[in-house]
Amino acid sequence: MDAAYCVAATHCSEVCGRCPAWVAITRCRGLRGAPLARPPRQERLGIKWSPAQLALRWVLDHPEPAVTLSGMNRMDHVNENIEVACATEPGSMTGHEQAMVDAIRERYREKTLVECTACGYCMPCRQGVNIPRVFSLYNDMSVFDAERARMFYRRVTNPDEWASHCVECGVCEEHCPQGISIMERLAEAHEALLAEDRDG
Ligand code: SF4
Ligand code: SF4
Repeated sequence: MDAAYCVAATHCSEVCGRCPAWVAITRCRGLRGAPLARPPRQERLGIKWSPAQLALRWVLDHPEPAVTLSGMNRMDHVNENIEVACATEPGSMTGHEQAMVDAIRERYREKTLVECTACGYCMPCRQGVNIPRVFSLYNDMSVFDAERARMFYRRVTNPDEWASHCVECGVCEEHCPQGISIMERLAEAHEALLAEDRDG
């Protein structure tokens, strides 16, 4: 479960405690890689925690996870996480921190272009279109770094998985629990992801 991304970004923002993903290991890509750990800047949060620390603190604030994993590749990451872990017990986040999380979540939601949860129920596409990946990169264009997302689509994603292979059979839309107009949004995403960078 992309827990901290859920906090700040898009889906499953309410943790009801019944989700089996919380039973064993929760913080799988909790910061969704580096992007979420960067913006917004710490000083703009108005709290002592960095964005990465706030995300970890949010996970640890919930009583449900038995184990929380965090990727660390530098000593200061280790120190930061220890600081948060020592200071955080379930229910220990302040009202201001909760409000900050809500504000960040709302900001990411506003920037999300397609409410795709990457559940994969629309897959496989018989034409080979990697629907969740296309939407993920399309959202990354808006939420994080447009040119980086475009680069990942053009150069890293297998062209056989590009949205341009969609023949509009409509099968995927019958399975999407989010009710996304997949065919229409795929065409839009493909055009945007192949467009030249206009964002400087
Ligand atoms: S509508 Fe397009 S993306 Fe969806 S299953 Fe058919 S070919 Fe694949
Ligand atoms: S079924 Fe809908 S929400 Fe799930 S991956 Fe496909 S497009 Fe996204």
